[in-house]
Amino acid sequence: MTAGRLLRKIFLVDLFQGLAVTFGYQKPKYIVTEQYPAERPKVAERYRGAPRLNNNPENGETLCIACNLCALACPENLIVVGAERNEQTRRKELTTFTYDLSRCMFCGLCEDACPVDALELTQDFELASYSRPGMIWDRQMLEEGPAQAIQMLTDINAILFYVFAALVLGGGILTITQRNAVHSAISLIVSLLGVAGLYLLQQAEFLFAVQIVLYVGGIMLLFLFVIMLVNLDQAAHQRQFNKQWLVALAAVAAVGVQIGYFLYRGQDAFHFAEAVTGLPPGLGNTEALADSLFSEYLLPFEIASVLLLVAVVGSVVMAKKRI
Ligand code: SF4
Ligand code: SF4
Repeated sequence: MTAGRLLRKIFLVDLFQGLAVTFGYQKPKYIVTEQYPAERPKVAERYRGAPRLNNNPENGETLCIACNLCALACPENLIVVGAERNEQTRRKELTTFTYDLSRCMFCGLCEDACPVDALELTQDFELASYSRPGMIWDRQMLEEGPAQAIQMLTDINAILFYVFAALVLGGGILTITQRNAVHSAISLIVSLLGVAGLYLLQQAEFLFAVQIVLYVGGIMLLFLFVIMLVNLDQAAHQRQFNKQWLVALAAVAAVGVQIGYFLYRGQDAFHFAEAVTGLPPGLGNTEALADSLFSEYLLPFEIASVLLLVAVVGSVVMAKKRI
């Protein structure tokens, strides 16, 4: 080994050169936030993606005449066309059609060979599957699109939503019913983690990160410090619920009316803001959030900060009584 190469190894020159290239692309001007799947990126016109077996739009019957030319044209032999002859019309009719996407190189020869434009390679690029058999599309999938896969994803999202919602509600209930303050704090962490999961399901990665770092990490640490400082033995023997039943009943009735109203009106009960689309170049998701928070939603934002201030003043007053 030459002296130059030895010195490069000792001073990790190659490593630092690699890191310089990596961090050179971390500049904010090179970072782009894709809003996928809310905004789908455009693909080139010549792009060939998911195959589709077209039906006649007038009668819904398949355009495919089962001539098998696509299967013969395919260099990968991945298309299998099944047909049987109709004894009355004496015509070949398509029965099955399988297309193994995992072996397809999207050359387009099958599409070109089709004499009736029944087989088409569309611009849809969402072809991923969880299994190899899932890459073999049958006639129904070719005609209707990979609805099963989309349905599966929707089902997984729904299951995750209920799991996170159960964590939020279960954690919340345990937070106020546990006698041990540390157990309450841990239940609150579970509830906050559930909220973070709900943010992630909505593709709000920034809020997810803030929820974990700020609430689960920072604020809960503060809570635990406070819990360690108060006298737990004494707190465990204090009354857990004050007996203001009338106020509690009124609050429950008010919440019940609101829930009934939301269930009755459905989605119309909410006035959702328009989704931000077409962000200006250089403006990321987080900037857009800050922009709408401090302009369109400034009043609710300030009301929330006043509420927090009231809570801080209230806790100081309550703590002062005991000093
Ligand atoms: S695109 Fe090419 S490889 Fe894919 S099925 Fe058609 S002919 Fe075969
Ligand atoms: S898709 Fe086209 S080429 Fe293939 S069997 Fe049907 S009609 Fe023939």
